[in-house]
Amino acid sequence: MSEKNHFDPEHLIQSGDVMKRSASVAHFEGLSDRLAEQAGDVAWQLSASRDAHQSVKLLLELSAHLVLKCQRCLGPIEYELNETRRFALFKNEASLPELEDEEDDIDCMVVTGEMDALALVEEELLLALPMMPLHDTESCHASIEAQEEEGELELKPSPFAMLSRLRNS
Ligand SMILES: [Zn+2]
Repeated sequence: MSEKNHFDPEHLIQSGDVMKRSASVAHFEGLSDRLAEQAGDVAWQLSASRDAHQSVKLLLELSAHLVLKCQRCLGPIEYELNETRRFALFKNEASLPELEDEEDDIDCMVVTGEMDALALVEEELLLALPMMPLHDTESCHASIEAQEEEGELELKPSPFAMLSRLRNS
């Protein structure tokens, strides 16, 4: 299982293959905190190419149907993820481009030898997921309580109002 998820970008370029894989969501342990259910699969495909400057470019396409955890009521939220990520691979830190030279939608990485596709996919999933998934106000189980709390907060005078009162006196 893990063997076939390791790949050498150079070999991928030579063969011209596109790696197409999928794994159950449960394989991505780093995601478990963010999910309400360990259900479904993550599908991805990886291909590599060499650009005009002979540097290695990697293209990763991800798609997954995930059940995220609402950060207000902890209930399930269905989430459809489709993400395309591009990487430029470098042999060492010294050959990494200066920050301002980096192209906006390309991540630069130092890679020597084989890469772990599962680890890469997990990292990109974590980056692509919303930090604070929330239900719509109408469908969230906690929305009524939350609104009540917000109402209470508004009743307290803001620290800025207090400050301006002190200044005026
Ligand atoms: Zn909710």
